[in-house]
Amino acid sequence: MSRFGQFVATLALVALPLASSAQTAAPASADVIVVNGRIYTADATRPIVQAMAIRGGRVVFTGDAAGARALAGANTRTIDLGGRSVIPGMTDAHAHVVGLGDKLLAVNLNETRSYDEVIARVVERARNTPKGQWILGRGWDQNDWGNTAWPTHDALSRAVPDHPVMLTRVDGHAVLANAAAMRAANLTRASQSPAGGEIIKDAQGNPTGVLVDNAEGLVARAVPNPTRQQVKDMISAAIAEMHRWGLTGVHDAGASGQTLELYEELGREGKLNIRLYAMISDHQPTIEAWFRRGPLVGGYDGTLWVRSIKLYQDGALGSRGAALLEPYTDDARTSGLLVSPAEHIRDVANRALVAGFQVNTHAIGDRGNRLVLDSYEAALKARPTADHRFRVEHAQILHSDDIPRFAQLGVIPSMQASHQTSDMYWAGNRLGEGRLRGAYAWRSLLNTNVVIPNGSDFPVEYVNPLISFNASVARQDGNGWPAGGWYPEQRMTRDEALLSMTLWAAYAGFQEAELGSLTPGKRADFVVLDRDIMRVPTEDILGTQVLSTWVGGRAVYEQR
Ligand SMILES: [Zn+2]
Repeated sequence: MSRFGQFVATLALVALPLASSAQTAAPASADVIVVNGRIYTADATRPIVQAMAIRGGRVVFTGDAAGARALAGANTRTIDLGGRSVIPGMTDAHAHVVGLGDKLLAVNLNETRSYDEVIARVVERARNTPKGQWILGRGWDQNDWGNTAWPTHDALSRAVPDHPVMLTRVDGHAVLANAAAMRAANLTRASQSPAGGEIIKDAQGNPTGVLVDNAEGLVARAVPNPTRQQVKDMISAAIAEMHRWGLTGVHDAGASGQTLELYEELGREGKLNIRLYAMISDHQPTIEAWFRRGPLVGGYDGTLWVRSIKLYQDGALGSRGAALLEPYTDDARTSGLLVSPAEHIRDVANRALVAGFQVNTHAIGDRGNRLVLDSYEAALKARPTADHRFRVEHAQILHSDDIPRFAQLGVIPSMQASHQTSDMYWAGNRLGEGRLRGAYAWRSLLNTNVVIPNGSDFPVEYVNPLISFNASVARQDGNGWPAGGWYPEQRMTRDEALLSMTLWAAYAGFQEAELGSLTPGKRADFVVLDRDIMRVPTEDILGTQVLSTWVGGRAVYEQR
């Protein structure tokens, strides 16, 4: 039996006893019943139903309206969907929670149409920020201001004299600092541009406040690390943003020891109202501490899982850091780089198997992926483990020989469909035609009977999970380009795309007994949408509105 076959069989065994026990323990009435909808359950035994009942944060019934209404009592809330569609709560299986929160709490300078508008937004923030505290912003682009020359700090420094301010350009390749920030960083006319960077200076030789590339660090290093409370605020802001887009779960692809502590603190305070599957960053003392402690599974009322390690094998394709078997097509001098030696991946994998942890390794290039599969294979040979669910994060470019190895080894390719639609404009330059056939090749992988958890890699990409849903089924960007889809033979079906963000994501986090489908006995995480993403024309998918998001039978977001 294939691994996925085993998975489906296991699932049935898990789900059925819960369902029958829910029925036999019937006397208590439901907290919520949902009727008159088109509910996609992601449960193969009953894929589409009209109604559902929820008690104690869990689904207790799916089926027809009469069956749900039979469970209603005096205090039951009834939700009439008016024919609208429901899907299980979506999970982003690869994203960066604190990175998103950091971005959300910075002053948003996207779509500013003038430098004055930038200054106004910073002044507004300064009004509510204690003097002396840094103000960070991001998203400005002087090309949108009708004057493509670099700005200078003077107007900003006059308007905001008492707070150090650092504003990052939309592409991250330049910052604008005000006078207070330059003072704090000791940046003066005597400061020299570092290699790979430039301090822009005026005709008199004074810094203008604009720092390009490697010069950004001259000011950035003066920004204090966020306090614990600030990081907690970032996490909370990120969770609220995820709810807005219909996400009820996230796999955080690399959490530091401090972030993990703060997740637990928020969990104790009852503020972690999302299914957070946190991968431990590659930091030996943190990993050792967690190996001694052991896996945390569904802690804090089913909100926190810590039972995996995040490693890096290679870099990224855009910067030619992805490790390739042959040189880059557009730069024959390089074939990428390894962020960690292969021995490190094998060593951590060995120890993780002993401690009962999963290993999830970033690999983008075909060589990076082969090395990770080799390391996993060696570790599994030394310590055969039936249900390790080791993952490769991204698995973007695969040699055809390596595609079947995922299924053979039981390794899960964790892929972000949004990367395909972001990279397709230039991936061919890097790789050439031949290698594109194994790039973002989810159909080739699915044909070997693996599951693919989907994700976005936000904040590198947008939070909206339907961008990846659309990319999965259409392999087109938001403008429908290219017509017919980019290497359309690699498309997923809509059923597969839905599973990739629900049940398969849950499986990739060992959570499928609790999460991932609307099955009696599981947590009642679901999303109400304004249209049926399983049936609308593909060009209408990205316009979908999330009407409400529910975690454990409780609305955590309702569109106003
Ligand atoms: Zn990532």
